[in-house]
Amino acid sequence: AVEIRNLDKFYGPFQALKQIDLTIPPGKVTCLIGPSGSGKSTLLRCINFLEEYDAGEVRIDDQLIGYDGPGRKMSARKLRQMRRSIGMVFQQFNLWPHMTALENVAEGLIRVRGLGKADAATRAAEALRKVGLEDKMQNHPARLSGGQQQRVAIARAIAMEPRLMLFDEPTSALDPELVGEVLQVMKTLAGEGMTMAVVTHEMGFAAHVADQVAFMEAGELVAVDSPDAILHNPSDPRISDFLRTYH
Ligand code: ATP
Ligand code: MG
Repeated sequence: AVEIRNLDKFYGPFQALKQIDLTIPPGKVTCLIGPSGSGKSTLLRCINFLEEYDAGEVRIDDQLIGYDGPGRKMSARKLRQMRRSIGMVFQQFNLWPHMTALENVAEGLIRVRGLGKADAATRAAEALRKVGLEDKMQNHPARLSGGQQQRVAIARAIAMEPRLMLFDEPTSALDPELVGEVLQVMKTLAGEGMTMAVVTHEMGFAAHVADQVAFMEAGELVAVDSPDAILHNPSDPRISDFLRTYH
């Protein structure tokens, strides 16, 4: 599980996260929703310490990330090692343009995991099969659709066998007709028991795939509850106001 406790994050004088308390249970899907600027990306980035936090803590399977103890920064080496078990997928796919899909997925396995080229290629091919791209492995990103590129990015992350996957609006940069194929891959991953935290504006995905939905506004975690409770019976007017903009 990921346990976030009393988390505060400032950008200069601006407080982007205010006393966030959230547990991301293992094998479950947690969707983060809320208006633009509410702190969703910041919170996600604090989980793998891409963003340093100012107070509180983030534990992954009981291990503090970023610090060895109160005020003692973790070594870069140890942080890298912890991050290895966390996959992240962004709105922008960030694929290497000069590499094929297969090479993009194999790269981390070679560089980070130290696998030999052949082993890496085998495992990369397996990951690409999983996201339905077995026939596109030799394509460069320029010869893939946006949805296919995002599926390569997901394959790249899952090839590393993470115990946790973080998604930050993975479908927001896609043409509407390509959104479904990416959500389907994520749904399959969820069905296999992957622990996932997903920032999304796809309310259908949140409704049907999430085990819990967390609603944020202005740096606060307003509510965490079942998808039904958040999306259909919101307890807080800030949630109903937000949802109204989606109808
Ligand atoms: P969106 O839905 O638009 O992606 P978000 O909920 O992900 O929004 P964040 O990106 O987490 O929001 O930003 C939260 C707040 O922190 C915003 O007010 C933003 O302007 C501010 N912020 C984010 N990154 C920085 C930064 N590097 N420096 C200063 N302020 C920042
Ligand atoms: Mg964001």
